[in-house]
Amino acid sequence: MKIVDVEAIVVKQPTIEDIGDGSQDTVVVRVHTDAGITGVGEADSSPYVVREIIYCPASHIVCKGLRDVIIGMDPFDIDVIYEKMYQASYYYGRRSAAIHAISAIEMALWDIKGKALGLPVYKLLGGAFRTEIPAYCSVLMPDSEDEIKRIVDTYMPQGYCGIKFGWGALGYDLDTDVKLIAACRKALGKGPRLMIDIGMRWTGAKTVIRMCERIREFDLTWLEEPFSPDYLDGYRRLATATDISIAAGEEQGTLYELMELLDTGGVDILQPDMARCGGIGIAKKISDIAALKDIPVIPHAFKTGILMSASLQFIAAAKNAFILEYICQETVLSKRLIKHHFNIDAHGIIHIPDQPGLGIEVDEDVLEEYCVLK
Ligand code: MG
Repeated sequence: MKIVDVEAIVVKQPTIEDIGDGSQDTVVVRVHTDAGITGVGEADSSPYVVREIIYCPASHIVCKGLRDVIIGMDPFDIDVIYEKMYQASYYYGRRSAAIHAISAIEMALWDIKGKALGLPVYKLLGGAFRTEIPAYCSVLMPDSEDEIKRIVDTYMPQGYCGIKFGWGALGYDLDTDVKLIAACRKALGKGPRLMIDIGMRWTGAKTVIRMCERIREFDLTWLEEPFSPDYLDGYRRLATATDISIAAGEEQGTLYELMELLDTGGVDILQPDMARCGGIGIAKKISDIAALKDIPVIPHAFKTGILMSASLQFIAAAKNAFILEYICQETVLSKRLIKHHFNIDAHGIIHIPDQPGLGIEVDEDVLEEYCVLK
């Protein structure tokens, strides 16, 4: 089998708000083969930048558009194709947007391989440690206690094992942050998981260490991304100063950066995003390494059903995953871009699809309706 074409389609909702919600737009990447099998993936990035990285003409042997690099290759050779794309984008890549684009293509290759073999991706990754997973509700932090209570009262009766409040109103004022986090625990009561995502807004290791003391009583399952992804020294200092579990990793691209965060940053929970880190294979490699250190790997996934399906396939095959991030922001793309609905059951459990590949189908009508650039 050979790759014959790659498409990068930008879709977006009519208005993009300046909030931490990655499901307002996306780039859908389709890899076509001469066998008539098409794989689908997406990148969590600027969809316009990723599209250009895929389509741009070659400038130099290590500065090429990814589409031209992989046409003619066997889509089963996923590691080989990853390395070829990485080397062909050295000048402008190595991290960030180029790795996001590589992630989308890599995701589509797993989809092709699974479809061609009639197997779900998790079988190709080594098999299923689990076929179902508890979901937690992931929402932006509102700016009032009443709205926190409304969110808790809306979602918790649906079965979720807990809620993560992130970004939104957090990170602008430390006293307000403590009040909001206290309101979350008060609304949830004792028992359900509470996760807080600061969205990189706290600064300085000492400030964060002090804040961990102030919020310790609210029993967080984890505190997420207090620092910039570049402040590994801060993560390292925090690791020894608090007993709150610290989670991070969604910004990290490549195995190099994930390894650094694990080894130097000393995080307790690693959160690779399969639409940013280099793809499903990179996430599997880091999860195998993290498992040796007894570190859980909980993928970050705040995009559309394409990424959620990739995350579920990974979660099935990762020894050290125990929970799924389920976006409860109601954007049209997160709810409608694919035909499959990953509904939770009354106990908050999602059953992992066992259809070939990623086990999903893009809704062509929705793709067409929200497409702004092909
Ligand atoms: Mg986060």
